[in-house]
Amino acid sequence: MGTKTLTCLSCAQLNRVPYDRLSAAPKCGSCGKGLMPTKPVDVTPAVLQKAIAKDEVPLVVDFWAPWCGPCKAMAPDYAKAAQALRGEVRLVKLNTQDHQSAGARYRIRAIPTLVRFLHGKEHKRQSGALRATALIAWCKG
Ligand SMILES: [Zn+2]
Repeated sequence: MGTKTLTCLSCAQLNRVPYDRLSAAPKCGSCGKGLMPTKPVDVTPAVLQKAIAKDEVPLVVDFWAPWCGPCKAMAPDYAKAAQALRGEVRLVKLNTQDHQSAGARYRIRAIPTLVRFLHGKEHKRQSGALRATALIAWCKG
């Protein structure tokens, strides 16, 4: 079995995880934080940029803001999706109010916007909230 490269969402250390260990709660070799969290993780633009470039597991980003009602309404569904997709897809959140330059960099025009990245590229995006079932299907591929 091969390995997958994953960026630690806390300290940005690159980790190589054997493919068959992805579902077994792998931890960062540097800081010890889980590499496959069961909840969406808030990331900084720097960590996000590195994860997009280096990760070999699909990465979904929820670009959201605290003042956005639909974003808040979707949060429990997004959390359910993170739980359901643990070991397959990583789900993270980026606060576009705290990090306005990141919103511009990724051309976020409406929130929530979900963007799925794979192998260093944007694979697809979705503007507007989704409920859990649709969200899980969307995040999978
Ligand atoms: Zn780490």
